[in-house]
Amino acid sequence: MTQTFSLPLHIPILDKGFVELQDVMGNDNAIVAAARVSYLGESKGEDQDKKLIDYLMRHEHTSPFEMVQFKLRVKCPLFIARQWQRHRTWHYMSVNEVSRRYTSEEIDFYIPETWRTQHQSSKQCSDGVVEAALQEKLTQQLLQHVEQAMNLYQNLVDQGVAREQARMVLPQNMYTTFIANVNAHNLLHFLKLRLDIHAQYEIRIYAEAIYQHFVKLALPWTAEAAEKYLFKQPVESELC
Ligand SMILES: Cc1cc2nc3c(=O)[nH]c(=O)nc-3n(C[C@H](O)[C@H](O)[C@H](O)COP(=O)(O)OP(=O)(O)OC[C@H]3O[C@@H](n4cnc5c(N)ncnc54)[C@H](O)[C@@H]3O)c2cc1C
Repeated sequence: MTQTFSLPLHIPILDKGFVELQDVMGNDNAIVAAARVSYLGESKGEDQDKKLIDYLMRHEHTSPFEMVQFKLRVKCPLFIARQWQRHRTWHYMSVNEVSRRYTSEEIDFYIPETWRTQHQSSKQCSDGVVEAALQEKLTQQLLQHVEQAMNLYQNLVDQGVAREQARMVLPQNMYTTFIANVNAHNLLHFLKLRLDIHAQYEIRIYAEAIYQHFVKLALPWTAEAAEKYLFKQPVESELC
């Protein structure tokens, strides 16, 4: 199977974020070749190769999926980057992130479109939306908070405080940008957890975009098998 698509693939997310596929090494064939190297075999044609990927996923024979590598550039709010970086098997030794020690440029803040209410039984999740009459008021309060924080930040910098210290007054909805490498096995594990309905909306929407726009394109057989055996529920497509 050969795919052709031009890189980078850039998908806007939330109000000012994005996820971008910068590079991908390997495809479904690379997974098949890695699995067959065990007995020095080769491709047996599309039908058999696709069945092999289905078999590997079904039986959790995971190492062949490590042969494919994705490089992503992500712009997301700080509180989402914090969740993302819990996934230790992403090549976090290879992560590069914008440093607010170096620059005060391009500081963006996430302003949600909708305010959600706390879930009644789950301590973590949200459930439903805040009443319509309150939505605009809450957004105005957030905008005011961001403005005050930025004023304080600028004040500190203007008075000679180092950026590395002044940045502590900036709120968690500030965007950050990072580049990370991940192999397909670890990316699928991330997707299994972050496509799940229990994951926070703001990270789920990044996971959705990665799955729909990158993984399905680069690894169509693997994606089909993951939907059958790995993901806990069907992947919704209306999020992105
Ligand atoms: C819905 C949701 C809610 C969450 N809530 C919280 C929360 O309230 N508090 C909180 O702290 N975290 C929370 N997390 C983060 C969660 O605990 C994991 O840290 C995160 O999902 C990364 O998963 P992982 O460790 O499987 O992934 P990775 O770090 O990518 O690891 C993948 C796999 O490698 C293995 N592995 C990696 N490192 C080690 C190691 N050092 N020792 C043994 N095995 C290892 C494990 O099998 C692991 O599953 C939440 C995650 C989700 C999806």
